[in-house]
Amino acid sequence: MIKIEAHGPDDLLKDKIKYDVTTTVCCPECGEDVNVGTAGPAGLSQHTGKSKCKKNVERKKKQQKEGKT
Ligand SMILES: [Zn+2]
Repeated sequence: MIKIEAHGPDDLLKDKIKYDVTTTVCCPECGEDVNVGTAGPAGLSQHTGKSKCKKNVERKKKQQKEGKT
């Protein structure tokens, strides 16, 4: 299991990390761990700004308002 903390897809591309199918990247938009597989951080583009990501962001905003952690 490879877990990557990224602030953007470009951050880690230059590191030339080997990715496998279990690779997840922390989405900078919603903060969720996104399974990107062998695509690595570039795979985030399949998630960021999509409906699933937006729902995560909305959910987090609600949680912050309610004071939940
Ligand atoms: Zn996201």
